[in-house]
This record gives sequence, C-alpha cells and structure tokens, in this order.
Amino acid sequence: MCGIVSIAGQKDNASQLALESLMSIQHRGQDSCGILCYNDTITLKKGTGLVSEVFSNWNVQKNRLAIGHVRYPTIGTDPVRDAQPFYVNYPYGIGLCHNGNIVNYCELREELMEKKRRLQSNCDGELLLNVMAEELIDNELDQAIENVMNRTLGSYSAVSIVADSQGKIVVFRDPLGIRPLVFGENGGFMAASESVALDKWGIPVNDVLPGEMIVVDGSDLMRTQLKREHHAHCMFEWVYFSRADSVIEGSSVYQARLQLGKNLNLQHDVDVAIPVPDTARPAALGFAEQHGIPYREGLIKNRYAGRSFIMGTQQKRERAVSKLNVIKSEVKDKKVALIDDSIVRGTTSRKIVSLIRKAGAKEVHLFSSCPKILYPCFYGIDFPSKRELIASRGEIDSIGADSVTYQTLGGLRKAIGLDDLCMACLDGDYPVECCTAQFETLREKEREGCIWQEY
Ligand code: SF4
Repeated sequence: MCGIVSIAGQKDNASQLALESLMSIQHRGQDSCGILCYNDTITLKKGTGLVSEVFSNWNVQKNRLAIGHVRYPTIGTDPVRDAQPFYVNYPYGIGLCHNGNIVNYCELREELMEKKRRLQSNCDGELLLNVMAEELIDNELDQAIENVMNRTLGSYSAVSIVADSQGKIVVFRDPLGIRPLVFGENGGFMAASESVALDKWGIPVNDVLPGEMIVVDGSDLMRTQLKREHHAHCMFEWVYFSRADSVIEGSSVYQARLQLGKNLNLQHDVDVAIPVPDTARPAALGFAEQHGIPYREGLIKNRYAGRSFIMGTQQKRERAVSKLNVIKSEVKDKKVALIDDSIVRGTTSRKIVSLIRKAGAKEVHLFSSCPKILYPCFYGIDFPSKRELIASRGEIDSIGADSVTYQTLGGLRKAIGLDDLCMACLDGDYPVECCTAQFETLREKEREGCIWQEY
C-alpha cells in the first residue's frame, strides 16, 4: 500500500503543493518517497525515509506539473531501487507512480523482457509505466490506457505526467476501483489517495471512478470512462489504513470506525474500554458509548514510532509494539475491554494483552473491529499467506486473552455503508478472477527467482 498525489498547479507551485500534500498522506508509507515534476524539463528526486527527511534540503523549483509517492515497506525489497516515481523517455517523457498491486506482474515482466524493455527494479509501478509507454507508441492516449487496463490485473490507482508538448497529467484507476483515488479542482487540479490531501487546500473532493481516466491538459480537464466492472473497494481502508478524517466514496472513515465499535457484541462484564492506539480510538469510543462503560486511554504510544502493521518485517513490528506503555492506574484490578482495529498476525495483540496483564488487570477481553482475516490479500496489503494469519491458523487462544470477539461481516458492511466492497481476505471471494491460481504461480516464480512484491 502506498500514497500518491498529482498536481497541475495554478501558478508554478506544483512541486511545493506535492511536497506538502505528500506529508498529509505520510501514514500510507514511510519507507521511501519521491516527487517528479515538469516544466519543460523533468526533475526527479526520490530516496528512502520520510518526506521531511528526503526533502529537507530540497531547493523547490517552480513547476506546473508534479506527481509524488510515499511507499509502504515490504519484506525483501530494495527501498532505493524500488522508490517511486519511475520515468521513461520513449515515446515521450513519461513519469508514473501508483498505489496497488499488479497480480500478473511476472507474466507482463517476461513479455516486456522479450521485447527488450529492461526494468531496473522489482516494483510493479515501473512495470505499469512500461506497459503504458509501450501502448503509447502506437495508440492515442484513450486507447493506450484502455489497453493498459486490459493487460494489467489487480489493483492500481496511478498518477502520471506525459511530457509531450506542453505536458499533461494523466490519472487512472483500475476497473474495480480497489484502491482509493480522489481529485478536485480549484483553478488548478489535484488528485490524491485520500481526501485529507485535498482538504488541506480547501479543494472540493470527487472520486475518480473505477476504470476512469482523467487528463488535465492546460486548462482542460477530460474525464473518460474506459472500462467498468463492479466496484470492489478495499474494506481495510476504513478499518485501518486511511486517516480517520478521510472520506472515501462518500463514506467517512471516522464515522465508519465509530460504528464498527458500536457493532461489537459485549458478552462479558467489563469495567473499562481501552483502545490500542491510534487507529482503534474511534471504535473504542463507539463501543464504550454503546455499552455504557467508561472509555480510558490505557496505552500510550511513543508518537515517533511508526505504524506497526505497515512495517515490513516481524522484527520491526515487534520493536514498534515495544514503544507502547501502559497507564497502570487505568487497568489495575479491572476487567479490561481492549479494542483493536484488527488482528492480523497476532503479534501486537499477544504483546499488548501480556503488557496489560502485567500491569495488574484482572481480565483482558480483546475486541477486533474487523472480522476474522482468514485469506491472503493479492491487492497490496501485506498479509500474503494463510500461514501468517493467526485466525487462519486457528491459534487465537495463543494471544492469551480471556475472550476474543470479532466484528461480523454484516456489521462491517453496515458500518462502512457501501455494498460494493472487496472483503476477499475475510470471505475468500476474490474480485479478480483466477487470482488464487495466479498468485500461486507468482509464488512459484518467486521461489524460482522471479522476485515479486506488493506495493
Ligand atoms: S483482500 Fe482484503 S485487504 Fe486485500 S484489497 Fe480485498 S479487502 Fe482489502
């Protein structure tokens, strides 16, 4: 999972706006980041670390067009080589970055290699760019992007700059709309993974539709519906990934999280509701309100530690958990309802339950605002194999809580308020056909040396 932004500036301020907007979606990826901008010439800067680190001494230039990226870390990739945006200079100068995961990566990579297109990274963003460049050799833009959508399977929200004559912004979203992408205009144009990036500038927010392409060429904005399937928006954006103040497809992330908490069934006598910071706070508030029990902050997180789930290695995730401290007065001799956004590998939950017990809690009842995660995700969230998922292994008891209560599938739908969701990691119903078989093939190829990762 990553975050992307795209700007066509009113003045020559696109790179500055891209920089500040990237900071507002930094929670979507902390491994590396980059900005590519255009004003007659292309400028590309990217590196490992946070936006504030990579761009600390950046001499921001005047540019009309810019795209930017923050990258979500994954195991075994090279953060320098795989940092986005990517750039090619044939048939035009084209820069691109994306959020998502292309599941037929290996097949497409082999196809490109046979045509002597050499990729420099193992990132599917570079692959997407090369497929787009290839299609643009013989086709007009509309046809080229439609062909890209026909050839690439999986999830991708993409932003690009096509530096033909005066240069244009091209953004598009996969036909299922698995990853979010919003846009708005206020004299200039901005597209981003989340509405918070647009809120910052007071820009009204619209969703880029699944299978839609938007082209901004000078002062003209053209929307073209290239392909449409049913919508399958990732439910995990509301549960965990997006910022609480974002609105996706008209559904407020904060309101959804409050409702997720309210929906949780309480079957035990508890004294206090305590959230696992930070994402689960609204759910714990909703839970406490619904069941008439006090809400307390019982766990304090070092704010300089990253988000534990999106950390790329088990070791890093465990280190992040160690940045949590218990406020003993709030748990000692109490029956604690501990509310978390989700239980994926169980790493965090096991350690937190143990911390709260050591601080003197009488009982610890764990609640997950997300239903059981039982199946791998092929579309960009880092839970790729069933053996990594604690619910799938049937080892929930190993967490050590007195009870564990999950959200229901119906409760999740009701809280988000949308029907067209991807919930494949919960129910095994994958929106991209034959995905399981393709994924198995990918895994095979990965074992044989064709490296594939999620972004
Ligand atoms: S499988 Fe789960 S995490 Fe992956 S896109 Fe679908 S809902 Fe999101």
